[in-house]
Amino acid sequence: MNFDNKVALITGGARGIGRAIALGFAREGADIVVADVNLQEAEKTAKEIELLGRKSLALEMDVTDYAKVEEGLNKILDKLGKVDILVNNAGITKDNLLLRMSQLEWDAVINVNLKGTFNCIRAVARSMIKQRSGRIINIASIIGITGNPGQANYSASKAGIIALTKTAAKELASRNINVNAVAPGFIQTEMTAKLSDELKEKMKEAIPLNKFGSSEDISSVCLFLAGEGSSYITGQTIVVDGGMVMA
Ligand code: NDP
Repeated sequence: MNFDNKVALITGGARGIGRAIALGFAREGADIVVADVNLQEAEKTAKEIELLGRKSLALEMDVTDYAKVEEGLNKILDKLGKVDILVNNAGITKDNLLLRMSQLEWDAVINVNLKGTFNCIRAVARSMIKQRSGRIINIASIIGITGNPGQANYSASKAGIIALTKTAAKELASRNINVNAVAPGFIQTEMTAKLSDELKEKMKEAIPLNKFGSSEDISSVCLFLAGEGSSYITGQTIVVDGGMVMA
């Protein structure tokens, strides 16, 4: 795949799946913006990208704050001129059973996962509309399809992302902007490292391919969704989960 002269903005790009997506695009020739709440970690990933011979920009960007997102976008336009690909990857969990879930836990997850995705689409789509091209990829989750005990906030946020993907795809299609979502299953990152070994074993039994996914399994699908080969796909959610959820 060739992403020479393309600029990709990855939210939550400092570590985990976001970092793998950022490195994946850089290996294929794109210049990368690593946007994250954690500037120090974002700078580390940006340095790795520079070692691959690509331009990179580390930005401190809290996706829940629309003013900060716009400020970040202005910096990108100033330094790199455009955004061709937006990957809304920033996400958090704050699990609790429904009756015990606090307002703070609910709001925090909805704000980062769902509102953050909306904020970034709203800010970046404006410049994509002007250039009459763009690809937006939203990282959802199979939990947004199936639901999961203890994850009312997370499942609602990810289901919201799937619906938002469809609406954005319909609104932006006429401007040559494709919007799709990727719904990972169980991917080995720091987010899942905190689960108990017992739960992990139980989950593995439910995966037909009988193994956890890697961040690279998600990155490769994002590359596909940003490339020429997927130009006739929009509004879809691609499930990447070793076969756990089959439609
Ligand atoms: P990680 O927790 O490893 O990484 C998430 C990154 O997002 C971190 O760098 C984090 O910064 C950053 N971040 C958190 N809040 C914000 C914010 N407000 N603004 C900008 N950046 C922020 O998660 P994963 O890599 O595991 O997950 C990435 C995405 O994939 C998420 O959307 C997640 O829901 C989704 N996903 C993951 C699955 C998995 O099995 N791992 C399964 C299904 C979906 P900091 O380190 O400072 O918190």
